[in-house]
Amino acid sequence: MASRTRAKEDLNLNHTVQRQFDKAARHVKLPSGLLEQIKVCSNVYYVQFPVKIGRNYKIFEAWRAEHSHHKKPLKGGIRYSSMVTQDEVMALAALMTYKCAIVNVPFGGSKGGIKLRPRDYNAEQLERITRRYTTELIKKDFIGPGTNVPAPDYGTGEREMSWIADTYDTFHPGGLDNLACTTGKPLSQGGIRGRREATGLGVVYALREVFRHQKDMQKLGLSGSLEGKTISIQGLGNVGYHAACTLFEEDGARIVAIGEWDGTIHNPNGIDINKLMKWKKRHKSIQAFPGCKSTPKGTDCLQVNCDILIPSALEAQINRSNMKRIRAKIIAEAANGPTTSEAEDYLNKKGALIVPDIFLNAGGVTVSYFEWSKNLSHMRFGRLEKRVGEFQRSNLLNATEALTGHKYPSKTKETLMRGVGEHDLVYSGLEQTMVDAYNEIRHIRNRNKAIKDLRTAAYVSAIKKVGTTYLELGIFP
Ligand code: NAD
Repeated sequence: MASRTRAKEDLNLNHTVQRQFDKAARHVKLPSGLLEQIKVCSNVYYVQFPVKIGRNYKIFEAWRAEHSHHKKPLKGGIRYSSMVTQDEVMALAALMTYKCAIVNVPFGGSKGGIKLRPRDYNAEQLERITRRYTTELIKKDFIGPGTNVPAPDYGTGEREMSWIADTYDTFHPGGLDNLACTTGKPLSQGGIRGRREATGLGVVYALREVFRHQKDMQKLGLSGSLEGKTISIQGLGNVGYHAACTLFEEDGARIVAIGEWDGTIHNPNGIDINKLMKWKKRHKSIQAFPGCKSTPKGTDCLQVNCDILIPSALEAQINRSNMKRIRAKIIAEAANGPTTSEAEDYLNKKGALIVPDIFLNAGGVTVSYFEWSKNLSHMRFGRLEKRVGEFQRSNLLNATEALTGHKYPSKTKETLMRGVGEHDLVYSGLEQTMVDAYNEIRHIRNRNKAIKDLRTAAYVSAIKKVGTTYLELGIFP
């Protein structure tokens, strides 16, 4: 009898994104050529450049993909990883287009990457690599406040954005809007309060909204708020840490497992995230954190018993090899593309709720949009109105005290009087954006019986918006 071998699972993120797109496009009435235009990546810049490392020269491979120019500038992070490929960058650029549309951020999608492992280089070498990459982008007009605006992603952060902004400024002396050529910068370099934690915080705002729909939760066998819910997180980097920290400190959730590149730690009674971060800083690892069981694989955290699983590291982590062991009722995709198509089909059939990446991690680009706007306005949000707001509130409180003959406790009065600053405005704008976007995609799913999952609904929302923009613009002959 001929033996039947199963084909290897397709882990290519670009293929996954295209499959997701096709699944949703069936529910959108647009000309097929236009759907194709919304799907394909417009252009990709591939470059190899040399940088002097020690006494030798090393050639680095790098990319910047521009998925869609339906809105400008284009926006998307830059990742440093030894696993970056052109296909991955193209897929991530596509996700950026759809993500921006879902949260109504007026940008096209882009993404960049350099193939390197940051841990292999010191800060000085990374600075040289980053500056050289930026000059390559400048040469081809792949960066600029009105054309293409990078941000941090896996393996990059404020420091890299600062180097990029400075390099761009050097090549464009006197450019008033130069600082808007990147987002995710340090505050002192034109950054915005709240950007650092924006993606993780956006994940939490979204999850709070998910839990507000109690009927949806009942179907999963869950009730109440995030308080006491058990959570496992893969990746304690920018996104994972800020999500974990807020869930632990503000929502009273129980973080039962964390997975990192060198293993997983597990404690069913909950992990103190603040103490863990101090441990991670001191030991450069989460392994052997007191009170936890340590196992050697970062993927072990995906299989622990928990209510919510938050993959916030890399793509294709939830796949054929482990999908049957995933026990979480909610998979909150903080990372880009963490679930393969096969695993998604399996988990959907099993009744799990997948909150998709193209919506869930859009908090970063939302606050990046605020930062870009701030850079173009050259003024901190709230600077003009904070004091006048305090003055008006003070008058109102004094008037009510005079009318009622009762005094507010001084602490209450102080809180009520406090003016609105940049942090408040950013958090408020971010929360409203995540809440509105969630309700929009949930509504699309609930209204159309043929749409069964939130990801398809999110794509439908994005495709319709991008399609409308193209139709209204007209295609240049
Ligand atoms: P980061 O580099 O700050 O953190 C990634 C973390 O994952 C690190 O702590 C790293 O040690 C850990 N990690 C690496 N390999 C791992 C493995 N095999 N198993 C478990 N953990 C591993 O990156 P980030 O900015 O937090 O991005 C994480 C994910 O979120 C990526 O998919 C990224 O595309 C996505 N994302 C990030 C942002 C943002 O604003 N930074 C926005 C949207 C989406």
